Amino acid sequence: MAYRFVTACANCAKQFGDLWVMDSTRRACPKTIVKITCPLCGKRFDQDAKDLLQIGSQLQNLVFGRPVRSVQVDYDCPYCSDRGILVSLLHTDLSWDELSKEHVQTAVCDNGFCSQRGVFQELKPSRVVLGSLNPVELRTGNYVRNYRAFP
Ligand SMILES: [Zn+2]
Ligand SMILES: [Zn+2]
Repeated sequence: MAYRFVTACANCAKQFGDLWVMDSTRRACPKTIVKITCPLCGKRFDQDAKDLLQIGSQLQNLVFGRPVRSVQVDYDCPYCSDRGILVSLLHTDLSWDELSKEHVQTAVCDNGFCSQRGVFQELKPSRVVLGSLNPVELRTGNYVRNYRAFP
């Protein structure tokens, strides 16, 4: 399946290339709308996978955004360190730093020895189990240069 697409930014309306490295074996996640980052203006917007257009040979010189990847994120209980009390499969173009700030979830720990058992608590991502996230950007806008030749 092709995974290079062309799309237009919802903010600046400019066209750019979009790589979707979706895990086709894990279709458990029905979500097709992913928040992606425009490589030209740096703003984020909701992209529906259904609206992506496959790239033809005439569009060789597109600037590419950060690749969208499928990742499985585990959340541990912060009180008893029980591992993976919540598991989340998502598609994202974020780095780990961005993901851990943005993807805070609420869940209940059911470990009998946990001081907070049965209480809803805010969880930060603990680790990525499957898939990989984008590298951390050293400077804002740096990824435009880094990803132009990807893959
Ligand atoms: Zn834009
Ligand atoms: Zn716990």
